[in-house]
Amino acid sequence: MFADLHLHTNFSDGTYTPEELTAHGQRLGFRALALSDHDTMEGCARMAAACASAGIEFIPASELTAELEGHELHLLGYFLDTTNAKLLEELAKFQEVRQNRIREIVARIRELNVPLREELVFEVANCRAPGRPHVARALVKAGLCRNLDEAFERFLKKDRPAWVPKFKMSAPDAVALIHQAGGLAVMAHPGLNNCDDLIPALADCGLDGLECYHTKHGAAAAYHYQKVAEQLGLLVTGGSDCHGLSKGRPLIGGVKLPYFRVEEMKKAQAARAKSNLQSAI
Ligand code: AMP
Ligand code: FE
Ligand code: FE
Ligand code: ZN
Repeated sequence: MFADLHLHTNFSDGTYTPEELTAHGQRLGFRALALSDHDTMEGCARMAAACASAGIEFIPASELTAELEGHELHLLGYFLDTTNAKLLEELAKFQEVRQNRIREIVARIRELNVPLREELVFEVANCRAPGRPHVARALVKAGLCRNLDEAFERFLKKDRPAWVPKFKMSAPDAVALIHQAGGLAVMAHPGLNNCDDLIPALADCGLDGLECYHTKHGAAAAYHYQKVAEQLGLLVTGGSDCHGLSKGRPLIGGVKLPYFRVEEMKKAQAARAKSNLQSAI
């Protein structure tokens, strides 16, 4: 029995609908799935319904972009209350930041005499949480780049001409935001962030877990992060970070988190919920 706890749909920069993603999960025999779209939980209701009909356990989640000591990190919130007012208010702000950033990115691309239309990017994105992948897809669709890699290489990667920094909330604030919404805070793909020395400070801020298994973590990285999690008393999580087809295949199925890790998370979440309740009294 396995889980995939890191998935994106077309409510952010994935290409599958919640129903299509769930169908892949069912075909692959997953016991549990979490939807972790960037800065939104809008796909969760449909994914929950699809999972319920497929007999799959569903965990509502979201992937937030945060910052600590100048490093960008991604924090996954699991078991979030999708009706939490404070969380919804903050997500709406992040979405507005994303939309303004797209306008800025397109303006920079146009300054380079590449006639990308802003409307095309928003049309391709068709969601409230647009990101650089949508700009890349629009560049390809308009015939201005041959493929997504070229779009990132020429314009969108950090320090390329159309790269625009994104406002990020501080990591301690993001952890607190997740906790007040009843969730567990997990650092996503630490192997991609190159800031292992910040993990103890994050644990001191209340970080609950570490995404040890990820498509871009090899066996050595997965083992290393499990040891770090063990030393710091953090939960071990994992997921494929599937955004749809990647080189002709979906990534879902490539990472299989043993289901007992989900049970450990549920215990930790119940303990957090109890302490939230006590501090509210
Ligand atoms: P954003 O949230 O707008 O900063 O975009 C980040 C997203 O872009 C990530 O979640 C990935 O899906 C994607 N991404 C980042 N770097 C690359 C790259 N070099 N090639 C393709 N996709 C990328
Ligand atoms: Fe993404
Ligand atoms: Fe990420
Ligand atoms: Zn992701």
